[in-house]
Amino acid sequence: MRLDFAGLLKDCPGQFGCGGIGISYDIAIAGAGPAGLAMALYLKRAGHRVTVFERFDEPKPVGSGLILQPTGLTVLADLGLLDDMLALGSRIDRLHGADATTGRTVLDVRYDAQRGGRFGLAVHRAALFGVLFRAAQREAIAIETGVEIEALETGERTTLICGNGRRAGPFDLVIDASGSRSKLRGASAAGEPRPLTYGAFWASLGWRGDGFDERALLQRYDRASVMIGVLPIGRPQPGAERMAAFFWSLKPSDADEVRVRGLDAWKERVIRLWPQSEAYVSQIDSFDQLSLARYGHHTMKRPVGRRLAIIGDAAHSTSPQLGQGANMALLDAAALSHALARTDSVEAALEAYARARRWHVRIFQALSLAFTPFYQSDSVALPFIRDRLVATVAKIPPAPQFLASMVAGTVIDPFKRIGLVEARWPDRFGQ
Ligand SMILES: Cc1cc2nc3c(=O)[nH]c(=O)nc-3n(C[C@H](O)[C@H](O)[C@H](O)COP(=O)(O)OP(=O)(O)OC[C@H]3O[C@@H](n4cnc5c(N)ncnc54)[C@H](O)[C@@H]3O)c2cc1C
Repeated sequence: MRLDFAGLLKDCPGQFGCGGIGISYDIAIAGAGPAGLAMALYLKRAGHRVTVFERFDEPKPVGSGLILQPTGLTVLADLGLLDDMLALGSRIDRLHGADATTGRTVLDVRYDAQRGGRFGLAVHRAALFGVLFRAAQREAIAIETGVEIEALETGERTTLICGNGRRAGPFDLVIDASGSRSKLRGASAAGEPRPLTYGAFWASLGWRGDGFDERALLQRYDRASVMIGVLPIGRPQPGAERMAAFFWSLKPSDADEVRVRGLDAWKERVIRLWPQSEAYVSQIDSFDQLSLARYGHHTMKRPVGRRLAIIGDAAHSTSPQLGQGANMALLDAAALSHALARTDSVEAALEAYARARRWHVRIFQALSLAFTPFYQSDSVALPFIRDRLVATVAKIPPAPQFLASMVAGTVIDPFKRIGLVEARWPDRFGQ
């Protein structure tokens, strides 16, 4: 696991570049999402003075469910939060997709195609947020809410310009963890995310087991223009009802038309394509239960600027097709923390962080961009290839192993360069 330098730390207030492992910096983090909260935990434990600024009045999770992969779970284990997360999430062993008309399997990815006892953990966003947020509270991390950071002023150190005109700082380092619509990364000349054609309606619904594998993400497709999914996501908090994330892929530009045609027409269409999904669709009484998610894609070449590190979706966003976003955000936080612990200046740490994450991020962003149109696009040719060719080739070694490592986030080793060793997966969990 990660080396612990805490015992070596000595206080060195605000002494940017004073040299040596063990420097303590004043650090501001913009955004209390998974990236920002994990980052804050790492930094506080390493002896830095950390303040998180969150635009919402109360920090809160946005959206439905997501899959924590062995990568993200390893970071949570490193933070000592794996057991808390396992207690809430739902173990996923397999991703299975079938053609809605013929029922033919066109996607079957199993984590156990590779050795090591890996699995995914599907979680309600509120569960991931709650585990990180409660840990931040336990460690008395300063979180200022209702503060939207609008801009940065960088000289010897960096000052935050907040929405209400307030100035905060100065800080030795600012970490932009403000998500895909970041206003701060402009300071390092990044392009904005390119909107993807397809997004999705998402809903968190009660889990209904009948006919659904509780250890699988199940999907149904009609070409690439229809994708319906059901993902068991465990409980949002201890003692709550077990839930499932339900999604229906669509173009955000078509959402109004779907709403005008009415809920019953939409439900009828979903059930016609996937009769079993009635157990979920019948829980939807209003379009208000469905959040419309829009996806964009961008990858920053260098997720750093002057006294600025950009992590998580602010540095690289994509469609959730490969289910890596939150995991990448957690890896970024671990990488930056590792870089700060092993260098003797902010500049050196930023360089080390950018280098450590470069190839893992680029490869997964490229894979996501390449795979998404097979599942979400207007193309006729791509789903044809997916259903005929890919479905067959995917069964022949080493394709199952490659697909398993793609889903797990380990096509290239993300751990070594950031000082992590993959967690040992508990045999006891859900056996
Ligand atoms: C529908 C959907 C499904 C997904 N499924 C998966 C999946 O299965 N697996 C997976 O790994 N990932 C998935 N993702 C991606 C994942 O949700 C993101 O990658 C992850 O949330 C990124 O975390 P983050 O902390 O970088 O950003 P966010 O979660 O976006 O957090 C950013 C935080 O910053 C705050 N903020 C924004 N601007 C400011 C500002 N100017 N000042 C102060 N605060 C600010 C926001 O309020 C928010 O709290 C999915 C995404 C979507 C939309």
